[in-house]
Amino acid sequence: MQQSKKIGIVWFTTNLRITDNQALYEACIDCDQVIGVYIFNPKHYKTAFNNIKKTEIFRSKFIIETVKNLSENLNKINISLVVSKETPAAVFKALNKKHPIHTIYRQEEWFFEENQVIKDVTAAVNKPFKSYYSQCLFKPTILDKTNFPKTFTRFRKIIEKHAPNAPVARPTMPKDNLIVCDNTWPSLQSLGFDHSPEFNPNSAFPFQGGETEGKERLEFYLNQKHILTYKATRNGLLGLDYSSKLSAWLALGALSPRYIFHKIKAFEKAVKKNQSTYWLVFELYWREFFKHLGYHYKDQLFKIDGVNKQQYEWSNDYQLFTQWTKGITPEPFVNANMIELARTGWMSNRGRQICASYLSKHLGIDWRWGAKYFESLLIDYDPDSNYGNWMYLSGVGNDPRDRVFNVELQQKRYDPEFKYINTWLAAIPS
Ligand code: FAD
Repeated sequence: MQQSKKIGIVWFTTNLRITDNQALYEACIDCDQVIGVYIFNPKHYKTAFNNIKKTEIFRSKFIIETVKNLSENLNKINISLVVSKETPAAVFKALNKKHPIHTIYRQEEWFFEENQVIKDVTAAVNKPFKSYYSQCLFKPTILDKTNFPKTFTRFRKIIEKHAPNAPVARPTMPKDNLIVCDNTWPSLQSLGFDHSPEFNPNSAFPFQGGETEGKERLEFYLNQKHILTYKATRNGLLGLDYSSKLSAWLALGALSPRYIFHKIKAFEKAVKKNQSTYWLVFELYWREFFKHLGYHYKDQLFKIDGVNKQQYEWSNDYQLFTQWTKGITPEPFVNANMIELARTGWMSNRGRQICASYLSKHLGIDWRWGAKYFESLLIDYDPDSNYGNWMYLSGVGNDPRDRVFNVELQQKRYDPEFKYINTWLAAIPS
């Protein structure tokens, strides 16, 4: 009697890469046949908060590019990618009919929204899952919730004592693993946009999505030695190279944090190690901190009183909120940043801190409105980093210091000649 093939489905979500992808790697070891699937979940493209889509145009474009590149790269290792914009339950049901599924390999998730999708798929096909924390440097189970440090510094001091595992190898399957997929590739139009994003010559993030481009960006940042001055330039506002710009590839999992970590370590060994190379790793630990915080506190990240359960009176002044989103507040520095975000899908870390503090601490508006607005617009949106940083700046996170940014002082320090403001607003005389 002929034995049936063991078919593994790799469910790509925000792990859109073939290098250091544990789910993909394990599926290739375990299974006779491996098929990839990516779903443009219709829920992600619906009009949501504030009359804008949950995923606005710049990130949508970046996602389409990333998935196309993933499909090409998978093809090189003889794995087909099924792409659909039906609901996840419907996609898995159809897939299971054609290719009886043995196991689904995926990235581990911890928020309600992502887990609901997993529940829907289970209800539709009820197959075993194998899941991995491949969005992190370390398994978030490395620390217990009971002893999870309240501050980043304490977290970093613990984490720094460990070395992340080496990236897993890029797998490959035999040629006959490929299947015929009649994919209809989503376009911006089919995702509900009636225009393409306008090219903006001042964009600080003019990059394309995809693992290939992400790797090139990392190589460029290292080879051009921008990394060696990172500590001094990281608060920049204009141009491509004041910071690494790796966040968008990290958020979609086109690059893994382990891959970046080990590339930086190799650079330190081969070229030079200094305060700046250390600082880039330090920032990866910030990302890691918010990932672990999200893992332990789950949906408390989206609650108004945050992980600190801090009670404040929040305003729901929609008019003031709209002035903030449109960049028409009385503060030109805030406005310039908000306009950059709306026109390009990008804002620097400095800008994000100033704008978040202004909305939540100065205007006293429900910080989650701001976080949701950023969620729609940012190319590099990541739930843990976005909501974690917003909580932190709004005084409901884990920062014992409840700071308020002075916008004028920030402008004097970071944009003393009004170069940034004049780039995004009609010229303001200095
Ligand atoms: P670099 O300065 O080159 O840093 C390297 C990497 O370290 C980044 O790519 C990122 O992965 C990580 N990193 C740096 N700073 C932080 C930080 N404060 N928190 C977490 N990780 C960090 N980052 C996101 O990736 N997605 C978000 O949705 C997001 N929302 C934010 C919202 C607010 C209100 C604030 C203040 C920050 C937010 N950040 C977010 C963090 C940070 O602003 C971006 O990661 C950073 O600006 C991306 O630029 P870069 O890749 O050039 O960073």
